[in-house]
Amino acid sequence: MRVVADPERRPCYACGERADVAVARGHRTWYACWAHADAVLARGGVIVAGDVRDRELDRKRRRGRERSDSTGSGSGSGSE
Ligand SMILES: [Zn+2]
Repeated sequence: MRVVADPERRPCYACGERADVAVARGHRTWYACWAHADAVLARGGVIVAGDVRDRELDRKRRRGRERSDSTGSGSGSGSE
């Protein structure tokens, strides 16, 4: 059985910010913030620790905030 540390106690492998999840890929476990976890997941990684629900909640919260903030202009913010 794989031993996984609490992601919140580890830095993100990419940016050094507090990690949100642990992603297992191959023989390694990657600790990553949500922004960088996607890169590992896209390469076949699997989340083994971290609260996925936090992400969903965060997305919903952000979406609602964006909607109420941006009344008007349909062009802009190509952050993705
Ligand atoms: Zn990161």
